Amino acid sequence: MTASRVRGIGFTSQRTRDRMIERLRAQGVEDETVLAAMAAVPRHLFVDEALASRAYEDTALPIGFEQTISQPVVVALMIAALRKGREGKLGKVLEIGTGCGYQAAVLAQVATEVYSIERISGLLERARANLREMRLRNLRLAYGDGANGIPEAAPFDAIILAAASPEVPTALKSQLAVGGRLIAPIVVKPGGSEQALFLLERTATGWSEQWLDPVRFVPLRVGKQ
Ligand code: SAH
Repeated sequence: MTASRVRGIGFTSQRTRDRMIERLRAQGVEDETVLAAMAAVPRHLFVDEALASRAYEDTALPIGFEQTISQPVVVALMIAALRKGREGKLGKVLEIGTGCGYQAAVLAQVATEVYSIERISGLLERARANLREMRLRNLRLAYGDGANGIPEAAPFDAIILAAASPEVPTALKSQLAVGGRLIAPIVVKPGGSEQALFLLERTATGWSEQWLDPVRFVPLRVGKQ
């Protein structure tokens, strides 16, 4: 891959990326740190070359293995919710569902340390290849069932799930630091027809919970593939 491929041209240029940032702003994303992170990550590197011209549209796109790259506005809103009211960088973050690696790359811009776990080995390999050029020294990828978290690396200051489940896996709750936040798409109706973002914060004495926007994510699955 060449430097010009990273920089992008035409539909994949910095100007196209900046227009995406303006649209995110218009959609209510106010966190300048998140907007700067998303301006810095070339989203076209994370989708198939045939789809690169659509990389900066505000849509989810297929990434193979029946999975999708998350919609930019959802990535922005989730990370902004983790950061809300906080100064400086997020500390140690865990992402469940690496997919193509896009959100992991964005997280690596706003956190000191990022762990991202994926259950489909073929997709994890693809993410590794996508991310190589960016040389993110604070990002570690892992293969496994993310519902178990990564006990050896816990506690995490933030946990972000990129796949929907009926409830937050208990292992993940236990790996959250006091004062840490977790955000996840939760299936609110049986059958997976409706989902909403759920924000959980671990306090010294318990948990505080908040429901946010409706969303649509692929399901969190059990085991490895
Ligand atoms: N974070 C990605 C979105 C990936 S889509 C982005 O930046 O666009 C969600 C991903 O979650 C899929 O790749 C899917 O394979 C993965 N996934 C689903 N269940 C999982 C589990 N239990 N553990 C780890 N990854 C899981």
